[in-house]
Amino acid sequence: MRLALLFGSLTLAFLLAVWTTQAPKPRPAGASAVAFSAARAMTDIEQIARAPHPVGSPEHARVRAYLNDRLTQLGLQVSEQAGPLSPASVKRLARAGGDPGAANNQAINLIGVLPGKDREQPAVMLMAHYDTVVGSPGAADDSAGVAAILEAVRAIQARGPVERDLVVLLTDAEELGLDGARVFFGGHPLRDRIGAVVNLEARGGGGRAAMFETGREAGPMVQLFRRAAAKADGGTTATSIAAFMYERMPNGTDFTVPKDRGVGGL
Ligand SMILES: [Zn+2]
Repeated sequence: MRLALLFGSLTLAFLLAVWTTQAPKPRPAGASAVAFSAARAMTDIEQIARAPHPVGSPEHARVRAYLNDRLTQLGLQVSEQAGPLSPASVKRLARAGGDPGAANNQAINLIGVLPGKDREQPAVMLMAHYDTVVGSPGAADDSAGVAAILEAVRAIQARGPVERDLVVLLTDAEELGLDGARVFFGGHPLRDRIGAVVNLEARGGGGRAAMFETGREAGPMVQLFRRAAAKADGGTTATSIAAFMYERMPNGTDFTVPKDRGVGGL
């Protein structure tokens, strides 16, 4: 009897684990213009993740030019912002076989602004990093995040004018030490206009998206997320234990930088 109970509980736990980690079926490229289509986003991933593109590599410059063109095509006001890599990031890149000198020891962010109807309101920021580590084309980390932002901006625009400014920040040198995020939130003229950040980052190479990091005092933000999640394909995964465990881990994401400045986000 006890053995049957144990076996039954384990089976149930396994089925629950499988069920809660199912990814939604991607919407095809021909999906309605106002919908997010993973198939459309995939065409950008194929362009971005052709080869590793660490800071200072020719491929890194190619990807930045490609993304500058894509943001411009989407009708955003595009600019670049350069700032110094930290000494630790310069060392890390050199140790990994990269060439910080070829990048003039700099991180170069891409910023795109979609003006909203009310420009006095705090802006919403969508953020992901376009650099990779030395040895990986970075299809998941973080081309998937970058491509998802491009497709999301396209779908948002197809729905009509936005209420408030939407700021896209494609950061550089995240893999070296969050340098791009530090450069933006350290001194960009737009930094104080950002009211909330949605940062898309990769953990692992597949499976379901999970929300694992919030700002401080995140109750109202999580309520908003819950209401929005109900409308997302396949729902979303978020647990308070993930946020709790993440807080205790030594690694950070680009979102850690605005979070430490008191900006809310997910
Ligand atoms: Zn990443």
